[in-house]
Amino acid sequence: MKSSHGISRRDFIKISAGSAAAAALLLVSFPAFDEESQATAAQAVSEVPVIWLQGGTCTGCSVSMLNTLSPKIQNVLVDEVVPGSHVSLRYHATLMAAEGELALKAMHDAAKKKGGYLLVVEGTVSTKDNGIYCVIGEESGSDVIMLDAVTSLSPDAMAVIALGSCSSYGGIPAASPNVTGVKSVKEILTENGISTPIINVPGCPPHPDWFVGTIASVLVGGLNSVAVDSDGRPTLFYGKLIHDNCPRRGHFDAGRFSQKFSDSYCMYKLGCKGPVTHADCPVRLWNSGTSWCVGANSLCIGCVEPGFPDKMSPLMSQAQIYGVTPPEWLPPTEEKKSSGFNPGVAAGLGALAGLAVGAAGVAVAKSREKNPEEPKAGS
Ligand code: SF4
Repeated sequence: MKSSHGISRRDFIKISAGSAAAAALLLVSFPAFDEESQATAAQAVSEVPVIWLQGGTCTGCSVSMLNTLSPKIQNVLVDEVVPGSHVSLRYHATLMAAEGELALKAMHDAAKKKGGYLLVVEGTVSTKDNGIYCVIGEESGSDVIMLDAVTSLSPDAMAVIALGSCSSYGGIPAASPNVTGVKSVKEILTENGISTPIINVPGCPPHPDWFVGTIASVLVGGLNSVAVDSDGRPTLFYGKLIHDNCPRRGHFDAGRFSQKFSDSYCMYKLGCKGPVTHADCPVRLWNSGTSWCVGANSLCIGCVEPGFPDKMSPLMSQAQIYGVTPPEWLPPTEEKKSSGFNPGVAAGLGALAGLAVGAAGVAVAKSREKNPEEPKAGS
């Protein structure tokens, strides 16, 4: 059928796809391209199809991923992420030009590669009333429910990546009173007896490096190469406390605390959750190495932690600290623990840290691991 402008719908979709690709926004494999073109493009390297579901989401995770600059998003999606392998984003409701059943067909086609595709889940999965409060499409006149999509696509996936705090742990939509019965993807897999490996990449939003790096690790060394912590996060990115790499840590140890946001001291008393939050924001920085929350005189609100935001609330309350570890840049030494933290004794703790530095010259180096008793904020 031709439009009044003499362009068929099929031609329009092809032109739209090409224009978007030129703008580096649409680089997804597109079902309107003929099969011969797709086969030619895919023959050079091994291809890992990716199905990217978006449930209850603000789309911030997708936006954050699009902001990856090294590599750029177009390199992630069309070049080899690692030599010999590249990802092929087959389904992403926000990015792809196709819509409706044409888009869903691309999802089903990708899922035919059983055990060979990655399933990325962004946003929440509602479970109350059989998940009816999160519908992601319509097929043959029936709703496509997010809960059903996750439970039907995850069993045959190579792995599931829960991208963002909502899919990893429930996030903001799961905050009390959680009226739609939001659960984490891990909970849903467990409840349905699905044993597909799952990696959590939390953050509100997550840093693009955390996602791209996780994908690259899977392609290079397989799933077993991705070491995760007890909360299912790659230790490569979430292995250390924010507090241990914070450039204001010296102020904390010396007992110098900001009294207002324009001060440049430690923000613990203003509510910073860095001491109970695991991520590499202080060293990785955001927006191409521009800054990060504390660097911008804002608080770390603990967005990568399970239970966020409820367990971090009120956001400007002081986190309860049970374990104090030396700053990351100091030589490793024996971990020092305390049963509680009183800002008034921070200077004393700083002195202890100073003694630890002196002792480090003769102490046996020992890598510090995450303290299993480390508390969550608000606990
Ligand atoms: Fe940095 Fe926050 Fe720790 Fe202070 S409490 S040193 S601002 S992470």
